[in-house]
Amino acid sequence: MIETDEHQLFRKTLRDLFAREIEPHVDEWEAARTFPAHDLFPKLAAVGLLGLEYDEAYGGMGADHSYTLIAGEEMGRISCGGVPMAMAVQMSMATPALARYGSEELKEQYLAPAIRGEVVTSIAVTEPDAGSDVAGIRTRAVRDGDEWVINGAKLYITNGTQADWLCLLARTSDDPGYHGMSLIVVPTAVPGVVVSRKLEKLGMWSSDTAELSFTDVRVPVSNTIGEVGRGFQQQMAQFQAERLITFYKQVGSIELALERTTAYLRERKAFGAPLLANQHLQFVLAELSARHDVLKHYARTTADAVLRGEDATRYATIGKLLGSRLQREVADCAVQFHGGMGYMDENWTSRYFRDTRLDSIGAGADEVMLRILARMDGYSVE
Ligand SMILES: Cc1cc2nc3c(=O)[nH]c(=O)nc-3n(C[C@H](O)[C@H](O)[C@H](O)COP(=O)(O)OP(=O)(O)OC[C@H]3O[C@@H](n4cnc5c(N)ncnc54)[C@H](O)[C@@H]3O)c2cc1C
Repeated sequence: MIETDEHQLFRKTLRDLFAREIEPHVDEWEAARTFPAHDLFPKLAAVGLLGLEYDEAYGGMGADHSYTLIAGEEMGRISCGGVPMAMAVQMSMATPALARYGSEELKEQYLAPAIRGEVVTSIAVTEPDAGSDVAGIRTRAVRDGDEWVINGAKLYITNGTQADWLCLLARTSDDPGYHGMSLIVVPTAVPGVVVSRKLEKLGMWSSDTAELSFTDVRVPVSNTIGEVGRGFQQQMAQFQAERLITFYKQVGSIELALERTTAYLRERKAFGAPLLANQHLQFVLAELSARHDVLKHYARTTADAVLRGEDATRYATIGKLLGSRLQREVADCAVQFHGGMGYMDENWTSRYFRDTRLDSIGAGADEVMLRILARMDGYSVE
C-alpha cells in the first residue's frame, strides 16, 4: 500500500477533527464514564468516517480499505481508548454484516442513519455464559408469524446504554452449536429491551458498557440480516472487520506512546543527564520501535490483502494478537519510564495502561487468536 497525497489529506482531516471535537472533552468524558455519542457521531459522519467502505447508495464513501487503515491509525492516537472503541463499534463491529448481507430495506432503514451518525449502534454477541465460545449463546428468537420473539441477555455491550439499535446474535432454531443462529437488527426502543446494568470497568472509562436483557421482544422477521440460520458464519466474518480496526488502532497508539515516552525521557533529568542518556532505556525503546515498525508494515501487507480481495483471516488474527501484546508491553514501559509520574492519573500513561489491557481480551482473546492460528497452520489435532 502506498500512502498517497489523498491518504495524507484524509489523515490530516481526521487528526484535526479529533483534536477539535474529541481531545478537549476526553477528561470530562472519562470522568463521566460515558460520552455523548449522539452529539459526536454526526461530526464524524460529516467527513465520511462512519461509512468509509460502505456503498454510496446508503451514504457511504465507497472508499477502499486503505482508508480504514489510515482511520484506525489516527483513532489509535486519540488520548483515550474508550471513544475510539465506541467509534469502531459503529464503523466496523455492528454494521459490516448489515452492509454485506442485509436487504435493501434494512440497509435503508438502519445502515444509512448509522452512516450519517444519526443513530448509535451496538454489537450484541457476548452473554453471561458465552464469550470466547460464541457457539454457547442462549439468547433465543422464536418465530411467531412474521415476528421474532426474543428472550435472553447480553453482557459487556459497548455503547449499550445509548444504542438505538443492536446487531444481535440469537438462536433461531434448536440446532446445536454453530448451527441455527441468526443476526437480527433489534431497535432498543422496542418493549422488552432493558439496560439491566451499566458496568464499571478497569479502563475504557469514556465508553459505556452495559448488560442488556430481552423479555418477549418482538421484531419483524424481515429484520434478520441475510439468511436465517447463517448468523454464526456472518458474525465470524464481522469479527474480522473488528480485529482489523483494532489492529490498525494499535499501530497508531503504540507510535504515539513511544513518541511521548521518548520526549519525556529527553526532558527529565537524573544523575546529571537526561534519562534518555541511559543506554538501557535507549535499547528498550529501540527494540520496541523496531517491533512497532514490523507491525506497521504488517498492517500495510494486511490492508493490501484485503484490497486484493483475499481472505485476510490469518493477517487479521496475527495482527490483532501481536498488536495487543506489543501495546501492553509499550504501556508497561511507558508507566515504568515515567516513574512516579507514570503512575499518576494526571498523566496519560495510567489511562493508557488501563485501556490497552482490554485488547488481549476483547474482539477475541489472545488465546482465541492462537486457537485460530493453530488450526489454520496445522498445529491442531481437531
Ligand atoms: C470493555 C469490554 C467491551 C466489550 N464489548 C463488547 C461488545 O460490544 N459486544 C459483545 O458482544 N461483546 C463485548 N465484549 C465481550 C468480549 O468480546 C468478551 O469478553 C471476550 O470475547 C471474552 O469472552 P469472556 O469474557 O466470556 O471470556 P471467556 O470466554 O470466559 O474466557 C476467559 C479467558 O479464558 C481464556 N480462553 C478462552 N478461550 C480459550 C481457549 N480456547 N484456549 C485457551 N484459553 C482460552 C482467555 O484467556 C480468556 O480471556 C466486551 C468486553 C469488554 C471487557
